[in-house]
Amino acid sequence: MKIADKDTKAVDLVRAALEKAKEYEDYHAFISMNEAHALERAREIDAKIEKGEKVGRLAGVPFALKDNYLSPEGNTTAAAKMLEDFPSPITATAVAKIEAEGAIMIGRTNLDAYAHGGSTENSYFGPTSNAYDKERVAGGSSGGSAVAVALDIVPFALGSDTGGSIRQPASFNGVIGVKPTFGAVSRYGVVAMASSTDTMGCFAKTAEDANLVMSIMAGKDKKDSTTLDDYWTKELSEATPKKKKIGLISDFLGEGVDPEVVKAVKDYANKLKKAGYEIEEVNMPILKYALAIYYIVVPAEISSNLSRYDGIRYGFRSKEAKDLDEIYSKTRDEGFMPENKRRIMIGNFVLSSGFFDAYYLKAQKARTLLINAYNEAFEKYDALLCPTAPRPAFKIGENTDDPLQMYLEDVMTVPANLAGIPGINIPVGKSKDGLPIGAQLVGARQSDQMLLNIIASVEEK
Ligand code: GLN
Repeated sequence: MKIADKDTKAVDLVRAALEKAKEYEDYHAFISMNEAHALERAREIDAKIEKGEKVGRLAGVPFALKDNYLSPEGNTTAAAKMLEDFPSPITATAVAKIEAEGAIMIGRTNLDAYAHGGSTENSYFGPTSNAYDKERVAGGSSGGSAVAVALDIVPFALGSDTGGSIRQPASFNGVIGVKPTFGAVSRYGVVAMASSTDTMGCFAKTAEDANLVMSIMAGKDKKDSTTLDDYWTKELSEATPKKKKIGLISDFLGEGVDPEVVKAVKDYANKLKKAGYEIEEVNMPILKYALAIYYIVVPAEISSNLSRYDGIRYGFRSKEAKDLDEIYSKTRDEGFMPENKRRIMIGNFVLSSGFFDAYYLKAQKARTLLINAYNEAFEKYDALLCPTAPRPAFKIGENTDDPLQMYLEDVMTVPANLAGIPGINIPVGKSKDGLPIGAQLVGARQSDQMLLNIIASVEEK
């Protein structure tokens, strides 16, 4: 990516990004633009460069921010009516770190409200179009960020991944999408979805760019006690795989997966083979339970995290409410999208005293078995390869009346979140209709940079 210096003005980089965003306005990648602030920051950076002062590693680089990251510039809406008018009092740690290195936020990107979804159709502000076909979904929930990078509006964008929300839209739009190890990046100042699986990551065009952005975002934050110390500190070239052995997950190459997707992923496996990696098919039968585990554990955490939106503490309050009970009920009825409500109801159900043991507790036990299966696999392999999604981007509206079908699209991404391990989407081909296809490389906890090293080693420059 282009960094501002004596010859490249930050103002020009930012202006070009803003103009492109305008040119592609009809894709609806952004909820709001940050034009005035962005240009002001760019001028400050140019002045510093002019005076020979030190500037950061991302000086003048424009970026797009998923609208669930808090930052005082503009409102943080999480694409929900509930937060439509919510001006954030704080800056998310990840954003503060990126901005401290001179990167400039040009606008906030669209998502499924509260990041609940896999298409960006659950946004209160309407859907985002896929970068390759306007009639198709951007994927989600970080659809806007993926499209902003795919259309070359910005060289990188931030997203969040609780069950696939970075990898799946990256796959649908043909870009790199990094979902890091749980705890790699601080979650402080990001609207919570499910606290045991929420991770913060980025979209970029190359493994090198993604590594740079992640190295800046990652590390200890005393405001998030799950964060790792001194993390993401290696040179990418030093993060080499030890075994040079990659498992190809056969459970995700059969029934229910588009043959074009299977072929593209196998072609990528061959490419890795030519580069000297040993490729072996591996069977992980436990993976078929991951979706069921996820849609118990995650709604449970959602129902708890969303209880704070009571019409009193944050954002929207219904004008129809006549007493305290109605403040709660009408505010939540009007402020949440149907998908948010569906998850609150599932969450409350699986946590209720009569069903806790049968659902929530059972799901957590099964989650441990899933983690064990991954640990076992990583004793043998550096990484595991599979498709990111069962098929390329689907049509806008195709799944909206069928939430179960929508959930099924997440079958290959949710396991990594449940296990807290890193997963990265790699663009590996196109369907005959010209739609991007993505493969996903997952590794053991804290193997993020090694995965990027593998990807970089076969990347076409
Ligand atoms: N599509 C998944 C879901 O709907 C993932 C969402 C996410 O990662 N934020 O839960």
